[in-house]
Amino acid sequence: MAERGRPASPLIVVLSGPGGAGKGTIARMLVEADGSLRLSRSWTSRERRADDPDDDYVFVDRAAFEARRADDGFIEWNEFLGCYYGTPVPDPADDRVLLLEIDVAGGRQVLDRHADALCVFVDAPSDAELYRRLVGRGDGADRAASRISEAARERVEAARIGYRMLVNDDIETAVAEVAAMIAERLAKMPDVG
Ligand code: 5GP
Repeated sequence: MAERGRPASPLIVVLSGPGGAGKGTIARMLVEADGSLRLSRSWTSRERRADDPDDDYVFVDRAAFEARRADDGFIEWNEFLGCYYGTPVPDPADDRVLLLEIDVAGGRQVLDRHADALCVFVDAPSDAELYRRLVGRGDGADRAASRISEAARERVEAARIGYRMLVNDDIETAVAEVAAMIAERLAKMPDVG
């Protein structure tokens, strides 16, 4: 049957890729279009910025983060610029597809624990286009250049550990492609009926 079954545990979908490639927009559009998808809310120990939307992160101090980590309460975590970031272990009773917007180092940890996770590396069509988008978002030339070399490193690592690669040159097409990858993966998952 083409009917979508209920997976035995939530399917985890990881979106990674350079800033400016559009993974945040893709995640938002997917969740808006399909109520069976849920965006994971990370914990972070960084200070809240004025432009942070209310529900972007759970803001905690380092001690609270470390306590949850010691309890094995994160499926992955990382330290970035001196601050912790982590994805809380999802509620097993929640059968919605869980979308994570995290870096490739985090995606690698997710795959270690959940080999059936779907990991997608969202890329810009070219470095020149990525540079244009980054500078357009306010990055200086040096910062854009260092993000582009970091993206090159992440791209190689992502391909090596089993990410699906996706070039976002048209947002509607990119969203449809990720939705198709999710449907394909769900169709192969065991059904709890
Ligand atoms: P920002 O402080 O700008 O919101 O995020 C900094 C970096 O942390 C970004 O590269 C972002 O993708 C990454 N990040 C956000 N949440 C998580 C998370 O839960 N886990 C990991 N591994 N990285 C995260």
